[in-house]
Amino acid sequence: MVVPVDPDPRAASADATGADGLAHRAGQDAAQVGHAGPAGGQEQGDLVIAGPEGLYCPPGDFYIDPWRPVDRAVITHGHSDHARPGHAHYLAHQASAPILRRRLGEDITLQMLAYGEIVEHRGVRVSLHPAGHVLGSAQVRLEHGGRVWVASGDYKLEADGTCDPFEPVRCDTFITESTFGLPIYRWPSQAALFAEIDAWWRRNAEAGRASVLYAYALGKAQRLLHGVDASIGPIVAHGAVEPLNAVYRAAGVALPSTFLATDPALDKAALARALVIAPPSAARSTWLRRFGADPADAFASGWMRLRGTRRRRGVDRGFVMSDHADWPGLQAAIRGTGAERVFVTHGSVPVMVRWLSEQGLRAQAFATEYGEEDDGEGRAEADVRAEPRLPTSPSALPDDPETA
Ligand SMILES: [Zn+2]
Ligand SMILES: [Zn+2]
Repeated sequence: MVVPVDPDPRAASADATGADGLAHRAGQDAAQVGHAGPAGGQEQGDLVIAGPEGLYCPPGDFYIDPWRPVDRAVITHGHSDHARPGHAHYLAHQASAPILRRRLGEDITLQMLAYGEIVEHRGVRVSLHPAGHVLGSAQVRLEHGGRVWVASGDYKLEADGTCDPFEPVRCDTFITESTFGLPIYRWPSQAALFAEIDAWWRRNAEAGRASVLYAYALGKAQRLLHGVDASIGPIVAHGAVEPLNAVYRAAGVALPSTFLATDPALDKAALARALVIAPPSAARSTWLRRFGADPADAFASGWMRLRGTRRRRGVDRGFVMSDHADWPGLQAAIRGTGAERVFVTHGSVPVMVRWLSEQGLRAQAFATEYGEEDDGEGRAEADVRAEPRLPTSPSALPDDPETA
């Protein structure tokens, strides 16, 4: 079913941020156009369609982040739910290359692009643009027959110093993630976040307790390293994290020096002041024993916004830190593209589709298999998964259950 389009769908979004600099029109008639179309609402000539193997570009005959093995795959970034093994040809940003080779094998056939560089494949102009998510993460811009589509992959708007910051790309149709597409998700600023983490580490160090901070090995761990005050004490990186630190350092990202837990330079006193960066899988492992009987522990994730998730993780502290856009960030990014048509992939899809439709955009869901990564935070915790318990209109959601 085709929904009529307002000539300027952005008119309905009288945003408070105004950061994108888009002109607003006085009339609000566009809001009446909103309609959450059927999931199968694809049209003749669409540059990307949702197929059983993944997001497929028919004129170019290639896929974007396919979840089943295909001939040609454009990969947005190295998280395991987006970069899967078994494709015959990979295309990705050059900074993703060492990550992909490490995870998928040195022998993969990989073509690399710089940001903004254009390759033409069967008449489709393909280019990659910074997504601000992890090192080498890219939005994929496709141009064909006068149309421009952008597939976002995962993205985050606030610059964090460990990867190229998100860049809005104008397009007719935008394919967006919606991992944290609920109004309750609003992130603290980088400065506020790291002030909190530093204070926690300092307090523990003064009390002679190691500080174990769980974070996913690709992206989050390096952001923590880059942002903390390394003068507080030594920093220990888990063996699953250190090789990725090396990739970031080689790409020119400033990270403080890190020790492996087995480093003979670390005596008992040093370990008692240490910040330990480890993947969630290290929790309850014997590896932790070397940090004393009672280390302080914390988890860094966007899901820490939910009290129930913190409780289930069973850690002392939860730091709200995500490499995905929060609710205002998703809105600003979508507006910034100027797109009149939006497909929503993973996360809070129905809520986001409904909200976008209320803004006068033609929005619909794309069924994908993203979000089940073992080392990213795309996976929703149980209370977020239970979408039927949530109202489908964002305006009906409590704004902030945590501070209420
Ligand atoms: Zn990701
Ligand atoms: Zn994802």
